[in-house]
Amino acid sequence: EAVFPKPQRTRRIAVANQKGGVGKTTSTVNMAAAMANKGSQVLVIDMDPQGNASTALGVPHASGDPSVYDVIEGRAGLGDVLSVCPDFPTLDVVPASIDLSGAELEVADLPNRNTLLKDALDLYLRQSDKHYDYVFIDCPPSLGLLVINAMCAVTEMLIPIQAEYYALEGLGQLINTIGLVQEHFNPVLLVSTMLVTMFDRRTLLSREVYNEVKGHYPSIVLDTTIPRSVKISEAPSFSQSVIAYDPRGIGAISYGEAALEIAKRSQQVLDAIEARRNK
Ligand code: ADP
Ligand code: MG
Repeated sequence: EAVFPKPQRTRRIAVANQKGGVGKTTSTVNMAAAMANKGSQVLVIDMDPQGNASTALGVPHASGDPSVYDVIEGRAGLGDVLSVCPDFPTLDVVPASIDLSGAELEVADLPNRNTLLKDALDLYLRQSDKHYDYVFIDCPPSLGLLVINAMCAVTEMLIPIQAEYYALEGLGQLINTIGLVQEHFNPVLLVSTMLVTMFDRRTLLSREVYNEVKGHYPSIVLDTTIPRSVKISEAPSFSQSVIAYDPRGIGAISYGEAALEIAKRSQQVLDAIEARRNK
């Protein structure tokens, strides 16, 4: 079995695409679980008021439960609200609940409204005894303040792209927003990874979409694609990642391979981020 390398520094990755239903949450939780399953220390921060990542990782997130909402509102630190994923002892989860849907308006007038999550994450990583190899942030399907907070808190973006006819529609707008964040708040931010999801190897369309995305972003798109799989879509209803729910199935294998590909590119990505920092 291939060795699963650890990055030399913490990789902070926001999983974003303003389109809904492209596999952001599914990729966040299964990538994180696949990494944790290989012994990496992983933190998932759920920034979507829907709380789907929290559900899929089996952590409580009812309205009123401690969550990232309390962190954004400045009432708690990340360490105060995180839970450990029941299936993986090295996977911590900061849950989100529906309460978070009020946050964008409530913090809109704060001068530091864009960096509330970054400031909380920096503080937590500095003060905690824990070292994380990966921090993943699951974003809601928008380009609003919660997503800007995620983009400011990380050094990398992972963009899931659904293998369907309109796959690249809206990508320009997302890249534009990332450009604005780079310009105004976070110059080191790197689009490090694109992952084609819900790939159907029987259809020409899936291959065409893959080739088109790969043609536009040759060094960013992972070789691994995630196939459509019923087990992947079922797993959240059992409050589990597919890595725990169906460890030998095609979904777990594919996310395992994608995670390995991301892990193997760590040095190259960290060097590229460092180059941006020194620019
Ligand atoms: P997003 O977070 O971008 O809105 P999700 O990850 O929630 O998207 O995925 C949207 C829907 O598609 C969910 O019902 C999910 O279970 C399903 N889904 C995601 N990836 C796959 C896949 N590879 N195979 C089958 N169903 C999938
Ligand atoms: Mg989602």
